[in-house]
Amino acid sequence: RQQEAETERVYDTQCPYCSMQCKMQLIEQSIVSRKQYKTIGKDNPTSEGRLCIKGMNAHQHALHSDRVTYPLLKVNGEFVRISWEQALEKIRENFTSIQAEDGNDALAVYGSASITNEEAYLLGKFARVALQTKYIDYNGRLCMSAAASAASQTFGMDRGFTNSMSEISNVRCIILAGTNIAECQPTMMPYFERAKENGAYIIAIDPRETATTKMADLHLKVKPGADAALANGLLKVIIEEGLVDEAFVRERVKGFDEVAEHVAALDMDEIAELTGVPVEQIRKAGGIFGREETGMIFTARGVEQQTDGSAAVRNFLNILLATGKMGKPYCGYGAVTGQSNGQGAREHGQKADQLPGYRLIENEEHRAYIADVWGVRAEDLPRKGVSAYEMMEKVHSGEITGMLLMCSNPIVSNPNAHLVQEALQKLKFFVAVDLFISETARLADLILPASSYLEDEGTMTNVEGRVTLREASKPCPGETRHDWQILCDIAKVLGKGEYFSFSSAEEIFNELRIASRGGLADYSGITYDRLRKENGILWPCPDPEHPGTKRLFEESFAHPDGKAVMVAVSNNSVVPKEKPDGEFPLYLTTGRVMSHYLTGVQTRKSSSLAARNFESFMEIHPATAMKYNIQDQSLVKVESRRGSIVVRSQWSDKIRQDTVFVPFHWADSQNVNFLIPKDLDPTCRMPGFKASAVKISPVVEA
Ligand code: SF4
Repeated sequence: RQQEAETERVYDTQCPYCSMQCKMQLIEQSIVSRKQYKTIGKDNPTSEGRLCIKGMNAHQHALHSDRVTYPLLKVNGEFVRISWEQALEKIRENFTSIQAEDGNDALAVYGSASITNEEAYLLGKFARVALQTKYIDYNGRLCMSAAASAASQTFGMDRGFTNSMSEISNVRCIILAGTNIAECQPTMMPYFERAKENGAYIIAIDPRETATTKMADLHLKVKPGADAALANGLLKVIIEEGLVDEAFVRERVKGFDEVAEHVAALDMDEIAELTGVPVEQIRKAGGIFGREETGMIFTARGVEQQTDGSAAVRNFLNILLATGKMGKPYCGYGAVTGQSNGQGAREHGQKADQLPGYRLIENEEHRAYIADVWGVRAEDLPRKGVSAYEMMEKVHSGEITGMLLMCSNPIVSNPNAHLVQEALQKLKFFVAVDLFISETARLADLILPASSYLEDEGTMTNVEGRVTLREASKPCPGETRHDWQILCDIAKVLGKGEYFSFSSAEEIFNELRIASRGGLADYSGITYDRLRKENGILWPCPDPEHPGTKRLFEESFAHPDGKAVMVAVSNNSVVPKEKPDGEFPLYLTTGRVMSHYLTGVQTRKSSSLAARNFESFMEIHPATAMKYNIQDQSLVKVESRRGSIVVRSQWSDKIRQDTVFVPFHWADSQNVNFLIPKDLDPTCRMPGFKASAVKISPVVEA
C-alpha cells in the first residue's frame, strides 16, 4: 500500500467527495526541506482510474493549515485551546446536566453522509445507547431521502443503483431526470458516453441546459417541480401506444390497473401546460422509452428535492415497472446519490426512523435483534425521532437544548436557514466535530478536531451499492482523533464505555456486519480482507462465500409477496407549494458546480478549486435579465419571503425564462438556503429545495 522511494511516497486512498468514491493515489514528494503533493487516479471497477478536478485537489483541504487540530472551547466569544481531558469533562458536565434538567431527549445528534459506514453505525448506536435520545438524524435527509423512500415503497428495499454501473454502457434508452452527472459525478459520464456510442437514445429532463443535457438526444426542459406530471405524460403515452409489458406487470407488479385508470383520465394538453414540455416531445420520449428493448431511469435531486419528491420518484419507477424494465440485464433504476457515503450512511442507523441494516426503529422484532447485538434491553432503546430540519425546529422551540454535530454544516445546508442559525445559538451546549471552523462550528461552544479522508480508515458504500475500503494514509495531525474514537471517548466519560470499547474501525465494522445480518442491507459476508482482495463488493452479501449482488430483483422484489407496487401519482400532489406570483414572479432552483462539494467547507479551502469558482452566482436568461434591468456579471439581490442574498448575475440562454439558478456551496450573504421554504415532503420529510418563488433586483455597486 505504501511504497517508499528516496524522495517520493505513494499512498493509496479514495476521494472524499462525491458518491463515485474514485480510488486514487496521493503522491508526496520531498524536495529538500519542502513537501509537495499531487493526486492521481487509480484503477478500480467503478471510476476505472478517472478523477475529476475535485479529486485531483482533495489533498489541498486535508493538508490545509486551517485544520482544527486540537479541541477549542468558546470563552467570552473566542475559541481557546484546551486539552482532550478538559474537553471531555466539559461534555460530561454539560450533557449530564442537560439530560438531568430537560430529559434524555433534550440532547440531539446531527450526523452526516460524508462519514464512513463505521462512523455512521457508531453514531446511531451512540445516540441510542450512550445518550438514550430519540433525536438523531443527518444531512442525508436533505439529499437522498426521497429516492430511498420511493424505492422502499415500490421495490421493498433501497439500494441506489439496482444494477452495477457496468451495465449502463449497453442500455438502449436512458432517462436522466433532474441529474447533472457531468458536474456532480463527472467520472460516471463515460458510461453514458459509451452507451451513446453503442446506439443508446438519451432523454434528459432538466429546467436548464447543462453539460449533461448536451449529451442527450432529447432534452425535456421541464418547469421546476413538474417532474411527476411529466412522468404521468410518459406513462400515458406508454399505455396508449400499447407499450406495456403485460406479462411482467401480471406476474411481478401490483397496482398497475389503478395507475392505468388514473393516467387515462389525464389530459395531455394540461400536462404540457403544467410541465412546460410540448405534447409532441412527451409523446416522442414515452414512445422511444417504451419501444426500446432495454432501458434505465436515473433520478437525482432535481426530481427528489421537492415538497413531494418521493411521489415524483415513484412515478418514474412506475414507468420502469409498466414497461417491464426491471430485474433484467440493462434494465433498472439509479438514484444518483450526491454525498460521498450517501448510500452507506443511510443504511446503518443514523436516520431518525432506522436501526442498522435498514431495520426499523418502531418494529419490535428489529428492536429486539439490535438490542441483542448491542447488549442492551430493547425497551431501553429510544423510539422514532424527527427529521433533520424538524430537529432544528425543536432546538428553536427549546425542546432540544444540547447537540452533538458530526461533520455537517446545517446552517448552510438546511432550508429556512435563518431559523437554523437562530436555533443553534439558543443551545445550552453545542459540540461540533469538524475539520474546520465552518459557519456552523462558529456557533459551537466546543469544537473537536475531526479526522480527514487521509487519516481515516473505514468503509464507504458508493453510488452503485459497492462497499469499498478506504485505508488510512497518514497519521492524524496534531491532537486530532479519529471520528469513531471521539464517539468512544465521549461514551466512556458518560459511563457507557462498555458498549464502545472498540480499538479500530475494523472492529466496529465487524459489529456492523452482525447488526446488518438478515437485514435488507446485509453486509455480513463482507470483511476488510475481502475488500482488499476484491476491490469492493456490492451488497447484499450475506455470507463470506457470497460474491455480492450485481443486479437486484431478478427473481422477485423485496416486499413479502415478492411483487413491486405501482401507485397513481396526482399531477398536482407534487407541484411546489410556493409558485411564482405577482410579488415573487420567478422560480428559483438550486444545485452544484463541478469544483465544489456540498456547503463548500472543504472545497472552498482548496486554492485550486476556489480559484475556479470563488463566489456564488445567479444564472438567468438574458431576456429575463433585460426585463429586470440586470446586466451580465452585475450584482443582483435575490429575494424570497424568507430573506435575501446578493450574488453576481450570469447570463445564459440555457435556462428557462421563468427560472433562475443559484448554487448552494456558499455561506453567509451568499447562502441560497436563506431563501428556501421549510415545506417538507409528507412521506420522507425532504425539503423542497428545487422550486420556490423569488424576485430579483439590480444592486448598485459602490
Ligand atoms: Fe471521483 Fe466524485 Fe471525487 Fe470527482 S468528486 S474524483 S467524480 S469521487
